[in-house]
Amino acid sequence: MKKRFAFLHSINFKIALSFILILIFTIEIIGAYFVRQLEEWNVSQFESNLVVPVYAMNRISENLNDNDKNTRKNINTTIQDFARNNSDITDIQVVDRNGVIVGTKDADRSAIIGRRTLKENIKQGISTNKKITQIYYDKNLGSSYESITPVSSPDNSTVVGAIYVKASMESVYQGISTIIVIFLTASLVAGLLGAIIAIFISRAITRPIGEMKQQAVRMAEGDYSGQVRVYSPDELGQLAMAVNDLSVKVEEATENSESERRRLDSVLTQMSDGVIATNRLGNITVINEMAREYLNKTEEEANGAQLVDILGIGDNTSFDELLENPEPMIIETTDFSDDEEDYDENDDNSLILNADFSLIQRNSGFISGMVCVLHDVTEQQKIDSERRQFVSNVSHELRTPLTSISSYIDALNNGAWKDQKLAPQFLNVTAEETDRMIRMIQDLLNLSRMDQGRSKLDKELVNFNEFFSYILDRFDMMLKKEKADAKEDDTKVVKNYRIKRIFTNKDLWVEIDTDKMTQVVDNIMNNAIKYSPDGGVITCRLLETNKHIIISVSDEGLGIPRKDIKKVFDRFYRVDKARSRKQGGTGLGLSISKEIVEQHKGRIWVNSAEGRGSTFYISLPFNPNETGGEWDEI
Ligand code: ADP
Repeated sequence: MKKRFAFLHSINFKIALSFILILIFTIEIIGAYFVRQLEEWNVSQFESNLVVPVYAMNRISENLNDNDKNTRKNINTTIQDFARNNSDITDIQVVDRNGVIVGTKDADRSAIIGRRTLKENIKQGISTNKKITQIYYDKNLGSSYESITPVSSPDNSTVVGAIYVKASMESVYQGISTIIVIFLTASLVAGLLGAIIAIFISRAITRPIGEMKQQAVRMAEGDYSGQVRVYSPDELGQLAMAVNDLSVKVEEATENSESERRRLDSVLTQMSDGVIATNRLGNITVINEMAREYLNKTEEEANGAQLVDILGIGDNTSFDELLENPEPMIIETTDFSDDEEDYDENDDNSLILNADFSLIQRNSGFISGMVCVLHDVTEQQKIDSERRQFVSNVSHELRTPLTSISSYIDALNNGAWKDQKLAPQFLNVTAEETDRMIRMIQDLLNLSRMDQGRSKLDKELVNFNEFFSYILDRFDMMLKKEKADAKEDDTKVVKNYRIKRIFTNKDLWVEIDTDKMTQVVDNIMNNAIKYSPDGGVITCRLLETNKHIIISVSDEGLGIPRKDIKKVFDRFYRVDKARSRKQGGTGLGLSISKEIVEQHKGRIWVNSAEGRGSTFYISLPFNPNETGGEWDEI
């Protein structure tokens, strides 16, 4: 329905309709005026033809004044003469002052002569001495005209009668009707021609406008390929040229902004920082991949969401507060691993992010949004906290032996030195604590050297089978010696243990720094002994795989709780601090061992179940084709 009458709303139709209406109105107004004027002119012309000529008037005046019957007869002749010249006249009556008809136009109506006139307006004309005219419709004649002209006496002193003239006006109106018909026909033809011209003109005007409209629609749809035809250099032609120009410029601008957008997109995607942009209400409009990854959100979840909610700070800070005070802040994301089975205290997925905020401001100062840049500072924060922890650990570790040394020296100072039994004991403890401190400082120095990469390996090709056996032999010897010493000195208590070896028979030639690797194996063995129960078995294994040799040391001790397993290689980490210290441990042995093994491109790890002992493993790179070569034979 709407479509069928759509043309009614087109400019084409409106211009044509206006044009036709103006034409019709103009023709009608001119026509009406013309017909009116024509009618007036014809009527006045008609009237002037009916005026009784002066000579006839004078004659009638004289005849009426005479009052003589014979002379009155002349009246008939006079009016018949007058009527003969005018075919429109249908009736003429001459009436004397008493209203008696004294003459008529038609001879066959002479019977009415001598009768009183019945026409009231004749009497009125005589009494008022005023000419009366009237146009009216007569049943028989159609449009008719009547005039009553009073007749004065020759000396103009009295009214002696009146002349009544009646005429048919049909000829006048017929003439006018004919002209009206001609005029209407001409108007119709002019109207039709005008309509055709109007349609052509409006088509000529609206065609370029229509083409421009179509081009604008294509442009809105992103098609800039078309060009509008320029029909003439008039205003519409100039508009068409402007549209073509605009089309080129819009295409260029769109291409520019498109390539800008692509560039921005690729910059945002490549960025190692997370970037989020919002509108002025704080709803996210742009979020790059990194930010989504940091916050663990999909694009659908993030787009349109509130910035403060996505950052998880919505409870404490509103977006308006952020706008007022866009200071950087540290945000901690929650741990996203929802797999309870896999939960591991050390395997924390939460991130620490530094969020920088800046306002998007227009030249007018109007704030149209905000940009938030997220930088992952988890590692940095971890290092910082480790550093702080390390300094606090070192201070604590050094303070403990120093406090104990200081209290023993105080006691000695206060007279204990005189006590033959206590003094050597006190000095002994002081010496032990000093030794432990020296060991710890030595360990710290070693670690620091390794951290700085200043500790170089002095490698040599060693048969690891022999090397490991040699160290274990030393431990066996040590135990033997301690046992022998204990036999002589009853006060000494020796912890008993047995070293069991499960070794491959093969020679395993590996390149190692023997001093440092000895330190590692010593440390593992010492720990195994330290944390083993009395009489426990320490099982040492040596085996090889394709590319590695693996040694393991298993004890039957307390084991290590699951949560501490990864941490035992951390500096100063001890499962039971008091116990470790009592046994002279520094808490640095395993971390030094780890550094050394990693310097050898190897790996160190531990398997343990609380209460069921621990097994420490070391794997080192190994080439099965490597042999001691000619040196073996010597
Ligand atoms: P420490 O000088 O305290 O022995 P380490 O770095 O050698 O320092 O060891 C770190 C911690 O690991 C120890 O304090 C102890 O709690 C634990 N540990 C090491 N070896 C064993 C083991 N064989 N059995 C049980 N716990 C052990």
